[in-house]
Amino acid sequence: MAVLINDTCINCGACIDECPVEAIVDEDDNPTDEDIYHVYADKCVECVGHHDEPACATACPTEGCITWDAIGESPEHREDITDEQRSSKEAVVE
Ligand code: SF4
Ligand code: SF4
Repeated sequence: MAVLINDTCINCGACIDECPVEAIVDEDDNPTDEDIYHVYADKCVECVGHHDEPACATACPTEGCITWDAIGESPEHREDITDEQRSSKEAVVE
């Protein structure tokens, strides 16, 4: 995984066009069938090489909605994010 959108998502759409690698889909295309936006972990690069911090989280108006998640299939990840931040699903932007 990479970053995670949780169930506090209000489907506002502010994040989707900010993603440089088109890793985000809306509720209609969410493969988990949850009625929220979704980040494809195998596409998300945590904005490495694109922005200083994840652009989706910067754009999101819902506090704590986008969190760090475990490193997995994603091709790039931020080296400065600790395992503890990932395992505790810490918000990407406070
Ligand atoms: S962190 Fe960056 S690459 Fe990952 S979903 Fe958000 S905007 Fe896209
Ligand atoms: S910006 Fe935040 S609240 Fe809006 S759709 Fe994206 S994750 Fe959901």
